[in-house]
Amino acid sequence: MRKKIVAGNWKMNTNLQEGVALAKEINEALKAAQPKCDVIIAVPFTHLASINAVIDPAKLGLGAENCANHKSGAYTGEVSAPMVASTGATYVILGHSERRQYYGETSEILKEKVALALENNLTPIFCIGEVLEERENGTYNEVVKKQIEEALFNLSAEDFGKIILAYEPVWAIGTGKTATDDQAEDMHAFIRGVIADRYGKEVAENTSILYGGSCKPSNAPQLFAKPDVDGGLIGGASLECGSFMGIVNAF
Ligand code: 13P
Repeated sequence: MRKKIVAGNWKMNTNLQEGVALAKEINEALKAAQPKCDVIIAVPFTHLASINAVIDPAKLGLGAENCANHKSGAYTGEVSAPMVASTGATYVILGHSERRQYYGETSEILKEKVALALENNLTPIFCIGEVLEERENGTYNEVVKKQIEEALFNLSAEDFGKIILAYEPVWAIGTGKTATDDQAEDMHAFIRGVIADRYGKEVAENTSILYGGSCKPSNAPQLFAKPDVDGGLIGGASLECGSFMGIVNAF
């Protein structure tokens, strides 16, 4: 059966010392808790090796927030999938709307990143989601379907089975505006259908689809109660141990 997952996306927040302290705090809190889901934190590149050294990988997964679409070479400032893997991290967020919007990441680029992540045994947490205009003009299902088809449907069923999806409606990210639990469920069920049409029901049933966008301890229980919502990708509320654990404990 598919996994339940709560993943934090720290984005460009915390310096190294703050980040290590927060990771330690979450790791300690998880020792005391009996989480009913896998817990992951995705952190800035600069923090990966230091955080890997202080957490228990059996309790807390570690990921990067991006990786390059090249293996190595003259790409000043880029960080490759092999580099991420060499820190001990085992996950990588790819296709976040902030990367698509501010750094011009297209499906073509994302396809290359996904391939490199998988080659290096990193589990991609692949983000999809529509902007407000697409929600309002009713094209949101097609938009999300296209994002999945273009970047992921070249994968074999075996490789697709390694992907975690995160539905993040862009209008709900950092806005305090959450999709309702019914809106989230409708989209997640739609996504599962799209996967089933391409890879069959079994692959679709085994794919974890997380919800992201102003998820917090107060709304996580209703969202996570929906049959096709397998957890959350958490931005703002993952930067404080108490609120992050509040979401982890919503299962
Ligand atoms: P917020 O939880 O801050 O809305 O961010 C969601 C997100 O983008 C997680 O990747």
